[in-house]
Formats: sequence, C-alpha cells, structure tokens
Amino acid sequence: MATDSFGRRIDYLRISLTDRCNLRCVYCMPAKGVTWKPHEEILTLEEVERFAAIAVQEGISKIRLTGGEPLVRKGVVGHVRRLKALTGLEAVALTTNGTLLARYASPLAEAGLARVNISIDSLDPEVFARITRGGRLADVFAGLDAAFEAGMGPVKVNAVVVRSLSQDLVDFARLALDRPVHVRFIEYMPVGGAALGECEPAAEGWTRADHVPADEILERLNSEGAAAGLGNLEAVSREEAPGGWGPARYYRYPGAAGTVGVITPLSHHFCGECNRLRLTADGRLRACLFSDEEIDVRSVLREGSDEDVSAVIRAALAAKPENHSMRIGTTRGMSQIGG
Ligand code: SAM
Ligand code: SF4
Repeated sequence: MATDSFGRRIDYLRISLTDRCNLRCVYCMPAKGVTWKPHEEILTLEEVERFAAIAVQEGISKIRLTGGEPLVRKGVVGHVRRLKALTGLEAVALTTNGTLLARYASPLAEAGLARVNISIDSLDPEVFARITRGGRLADVFAGLDAAFEAGMGPVKVNAVVVRSLSQDLVDFARLALDRPVHVRFIEYMPVGGAALGECEPAAEGWTRADHVPADEILERLNSEGAAAGLGNLEAVSREEAPGGWGPARYYRYPGAAGTVGVITPLSHHFCGECNRLRLTADGRLRACLFSDEEIDVRSVLREGSDEDVSAVIRAALAAKPENHSMRIGTTRGMSQIGG
C-alpha cells in the first residue's frame, strides 16, 4: 500500500496518453493552439505499461487514461488490454471528449474497459461547436449511446461550469433521468492557459467571475429543477454513489435512473482525501494538479532499472504537498497535464 508523507493512501494513477487532441476547447487550449511535443519526448505505450506495472507493485490499483484526447493515441485498445492484464490492478477507466467513442466503445469494452467519463460542456450543437472550436455534439452523443450499447458502466458526463457560457444546468440533469448517466458539474479551475490569460471565454482567461462555486450549482439545480418539474434533489449516500475514485458528491432527482454530482476543487478543496498521482504524456510524474513540481520519469524509464523507477514513484509520494495553495495558474495546461 502506498502512502504519502501525510498518511494519505495513494492508489490512483491518471495517465495522460497524449498531449494531442482533436478538439480545442476554449477553456483548455489557447486560441493560437499549443505546440505538440515531438514524438520522441512522448512515452511509448510500452514505456507507459512498464511504468504502470511498477506503479501497481508500489500500491496503485486504479488507472485512468486521459490526455489530450486519449482516443487519438494509436494502439489504445491493445494498451488497455495489456494494462488490464496487470495483476493487482482493479480497473482501468477512460476520460474522453467522446467524439471517437462510437468507433472505440465496443473494442474497448472487449479489452476490459467499463468505466468511462465523457466531457460535454453544452447541449446546444452550435454552442458546443463554439466551445470546442469545431466539435460535433452528435458525434459525442453517438459515443455516449455506444458506451451503453457496449455494456460500459458507470458512464459519467463531465461538464465544466463557466459563468459566461450561460449553460442550462437542468438540461444536463435531464440526461440522468432515463438512463444511468451520472452528470458531474466541475468547477472551472485556474489551470494552464485558462489561468495565464491565454484562453477564452473570459478575455483575460480564468477569472473569479467565471468560476461558479458548487453551492451555487446545487442551488440552481434545486430551484430550476423544481421549476422544470424534476422535483427536489436528494443526497445520495457514499455507499449508493456511482463507484468513484474521486471526491464528487452525488444527488438524485426523485425516480431518476442516474445522478447529478459536483466536483469542488476550489470551493471545498478535497486535498485531505487526495489519492492520486499523475503521469504526463512526456513522462513527468506530478503529485498535485496545482503544483508545477514534476519529477522526470522518462529518462529513468529509458536508462534505469525497475528499482530506479520505484524510487522515482516514492520520491513523488514524498514530495506530494499537503494541499494546493489556491495559487492561480500552472505553467502547463490541462491537456498537457491530463485533467
Ligand atoms: N480530452 C478528454 C476530455 O475532454 O475529457 C480528456 C482530457 S481533458 C483535459 C479532461 C477534463 O479536464 C475534461 O473534462 C475537461 O473539461 C477538464 N478541463 C479542462 N480544462 C479545465 C479547467 N480549466 N477547469 C476545469 N476542468 C477543465
Ligand atoms: Fe481536448 Fe479535452 Fe482539452 Fe477539450 S478538454 S481541448 S477535448 S483535451
């Protein structure tokens, strides 16, 4: 079992499989785009698998593949199958923008992937295209349907709430009425370009004004949900909540098949329960999303022994900060860190 220097159990590894993406969400990537890392700087899938095997020996039991867009990485299905074969690894999950999921859901499910989080920030096709700078909402819904057809679950929808996007939260909540979709509203975070003033929609990047705290999100879901005839939200206990490895709090409208939840990195930070490490696509180990401190694991994977790699993992655990300092801004963007 891996614990950090504050006694927190660290059993969850998020792996960014690529810094590349087929979308350019306004709050995630600057309008001018980002310079992709050269191929030789990106870990090969074999290197990722070797790292994962050693991390599992060090106490990691859950892995989530993210990015950039993980489904643009060639060989992702075989990668999932090989990760799933690691003894001691309980589950492999995926966070995706969903645009390629219609093609991949069935082979991924066959390879052993069940848990999928799909990011959708607007249910209006035109607004969606604007937010993602060209994405097609219909592709994402085809991906959502394909996930259910392939028997995946839990299926979650992640929506980042940004005030100036004026999202209709109840429309999102309706996704959870008939199917066991778990809609999670995420507070907009001051990370990377969003924090450095390079991202829209606020002209100066992330601002307090665009950040909608979870209490307000819940308040709106309650009052607007009741006005729309959905009833009042009921809290879902931890035991009943859709299996999660993170700190979401879940609620349900009466009779709904799924749930709605909030993730509150800023308004109620959950550092005390933080259970994760992150591996960036270019092979840096990052102990905290909000800290720019990273440890190079790529050169160790290329030149060192398994014991050297274990030592890097232990060093990252030792360096994991007790909490994030609410500092506004990280030098690397979400798409590079693997949000
Ligand atoms: N491309 C995949 C996707 O969009 O799901 C995986 C990578 S993306 C960086 C992971 C998650 O980070 C997405 O749900 C996205 O909405 C979220 N994200 C990106 N920038 C964010 C920000 N500034 N604040 C909060 N969430 C953010
Ligand atoms: Fe791509 Fe995901 Fe970032 Fe959107 S949020 S630009 S889909 S990595």
